[in-house]
Amino acid sequence: ARTSRIASSSLSTLSQRRLASSLVFLEQKGGKLNDGSLTAVTAAQQVGGDVAGIVIGSKADVDGVLAQVKSINGLSKIYAAADEAYANGIAENVTPLLASVIPSKSITHLFGAHSAAGKNIFPRLAGALDVSMISDIVALEGEDTFTRPIYAGNAILKLKSSKDAVKIVTVRTTAFSKASTEGGSAAVEEVAPVASDSNTKFVSEEIVVSSRPDLGSASKVVSGGRALKSKESFESVLDPLADALGAAVGASRAAVDAGYADNSLQVGQTGKVVAPELYVAVGISGAIQHLAGMKESKLIVAINKDADAPIFQIADVGLVADLFDAVPELVKELEAQ
Ligand code: FAD
Repeated sequence: ARTSRIASSSLSTLSQRRLASSLVFLEQKGGKLNDGSLTAVTAAQQVGGDVAGIVIGSKADVDGVLAQVKSINGLSKIYAAADEAYANGIAENVTPLLASVIPSKSITHLFGAHSAAGKNIFPRLAGALDVSMISDIVALEGEDTFTRPIYAGNAILKLKSSKDAVKIVTVRTTAFSKASTEGGSAAVEEVAPVASDSNTKFVSEEIVVSSRPDLGSASKVVSGGRALKSKESFESVLDPLADALGAAVGASRAAVDAGYADNSLQVGQTGKVVAPELYVAVGISGAIQHLAGMKESKLIVAINKDADAPIFQIADVGLVADLFDAVPELVKELEAQ
């Protein structure tokens, strides 16, 4: 009797087990794909099984982004949900749609970038589906085991999600390579909008326009800290260095809180996570919360007048100097090259 009980229970487990079928939330703004979504495609491909994508937005934006996403390598299908309610990606409207698509298409995994939109939509969705949220993964093993940093990157947690039927996962975009946008030929399937009872309405947004590279994806970043002392010196001392290197500008939280730099430029645990080829930290002490956002950078250069500043412990190249002397000198040298 014991043998037959075991046999029947493993049979039922087998019959409940589905082949992995992943969906990637292909985030767009104004009809332009957010590159971070391509790293979510790579993560989904590591699960194995089928990988499809979904684009959600106004009709014009969905039409615009479809041309780019159809050719992403490795996607079997693109679901497209176009409706004015999805313009501006309001999380309260997008969530019911995803909560309906996931069971109806027998999706086992939803992946998306750990971006502002991912952080806004995915936890709501996990709540709506009554499953755990799996945030900010940096690696995965098979279908149910994920690795993510905790305690501002000071410890790495490996978690196994064995019970939830659907895994709702955001991906740290610096930890995965981008899937190629060439070579694919996914079919498009339209998905009907799902009504939301939300009262949330889009009012307006203010976007800081910059001619410099985008901080999140730049290959070089020059960041300034509290030592810059003012918004004016951020502009007169740091910006010329960024321009000479063709770099994006970042900032520590202390510099942002003091009003020297815009909020969108904050690097760190509660700001952006970057991993450029070159990261230049100017007048930044190197608090763990700042390191959490930049320590994976390939080459770290630090300029600080305190030789004992913690930033020097992770810097590949360190210069102990007053930034107000060293940075203009460096700019002069770079411009002379
Ligand atoms: P400081 O620590 O004041 O360092 C200034 C440095 O400049 C010093 O090392 C000093 O030696 C040097 N200096 C001064 N004058 C000169 C000069 N003339 N030339 C050269 N060097 C000079 N911080 C972040 O950056 N990002 C985050 O996302 C973030 N999230 C946080 C989340 C939480 C929950 C908490 C509690 C904190 C967070 N912080 C974050 C804050 C963090 O702990 C530090 O307070 C902050 O990073 C310090 O910024 P700073 O290095 O610019 O300033």
